[in-house]
Amino acid sequence: MKKIQMVDLQGQYQQIKEAVNSSIEEVLNTSAYINGPLVHEFQADLEKYLDVKHVIPCANGTDALQIAMMGLGLEQGDEVITADFTFAATVEVIALLKLTPVLVDVDAETYNIDIEALKRAITPKTKAIVPVHLFGQVANMDAVMEIAKEHNLFVIEDNAQAIGADYTFKDGTKKKAGTIGNVGTTSFFPSKNLGCYGDGGAIFTNDDELAHTIRGIVNHGMYTRYYHDVVGVNSRLDSIQAGVLKAKLPLLDTYCEARRNAARFYNEALSVSEHIITPTTSACGEICDTCDCHVFHQYTLQITNGKRDALHKHLLDNGIPNAIYYPVALHSQKAYADTRYNESDFPVTNELIKTVISLPMHTELDKEQLEFITKTILDFVD
Ligand SMILES: *Cc1c(COP(=O)(O)O)cnc(C)c1O
Repeated sequence: MKKIQMVDLQGQYQQIKEAVNSSIEEVLNTSAYINGPLVHEFQADLEKYLDVKHVIPCANGTDALQIAMMGLGLEQGDEVITADFTFAATVEVIALLKLTPVLVDVDAETYNIDIEALKRAITPKTKAIVPVHLFGQVANMDAVMEIAKEHNLFVIEDNAQAIGADYTFKDGTKKKAGTIGNVGTTSFFPSKNLGCYGDGGAIFTNDDELAHTIRGIVNHGMYTRYYHDVVGVNSRLDSIQAGVLKAKLPLLDTYCEARRNAARFYNEALSVSEHIITPTTSACGEICDTCDCHVFHQYTLQITNGKRDALHKHLLDNGIPNAIYYPVALHSQKAYADTRYNESDFPVTNELIKTVISLPMHTELDKEQLEFITKTILDFVD
């Protein structure tokens, strides 16, 4: 059996070596390291793939979130609501901009922002909602958009984990994750579903004026060279990373399918245990072939008999990498603790941090590996 990896970047590279190498060579041969033609080509390709008017590449997914919030003109004291169960980058940029983060609990099935908790958190100071499409599953955007409309709030989708996912609205129409709110952001960190070989990120919007504002912000607030109209930042996707991404983008749907296939195998094998809760997809209740509502950035189980930590170690001892995403709720982190929060506001997150475990998930998992992983889990948990 091939050595099992949490994420197999090397195996994936070997499949696409020629395309990636020739993209990188093109940059080396032209020395167009910054803002070269490949950056514009990738931007256009991604706009087409996502069916969105504007993609603005930037340096990473954290910058993308920060710049989106700057572009919307959010100001000190404005309240921004986001999920308690996510990677810290989401809340970090809210705090960094001196906005007021308001963390709310998540839904017990999808682990995405809980709609009732979101409604309860709205105050006259609320200006924006940041739904995070956690682990690759799109949040309940029908409800989020409805609430935003009712209260006149901006929606910033943190789509770092769900690029390529489709969201099917109640009326049957579909949109790509990240293109539903006022603005969406993503990360091209190597282990993300569409990863480059370094850092990278992007911002998406259909709003022409916001796109223009953001294009200036990523470039030191310049709209005319050396005239700085607003305070900006320096946040660029470099040409080499754009070349890698341009080579990989045509494979993104195939990659999502490979992840879904692995998830389907895991679900079928592991749902037999009464001590395991396997992930569901909110749109159809199963991992179906017709929609793409979950692209499994992570495959995350809940172990309900108290053996989660022991399983984590047991799997490592058996050569099966695994991880706890996330072991601490954001409201309990030193940096984001706030006297406004009560533990009773976060029953789901407080449970998840004790029960979740993420298994190897990537595009190169084979049947022998999946069989070994699931058998090792079942033998130990039951
Ligand atoms: C990875 C990630 C980010 C940050 O992306 P970077 O490119 O690492 O800055 C933000 N939000 C979520 C949910 C992420 O998973």
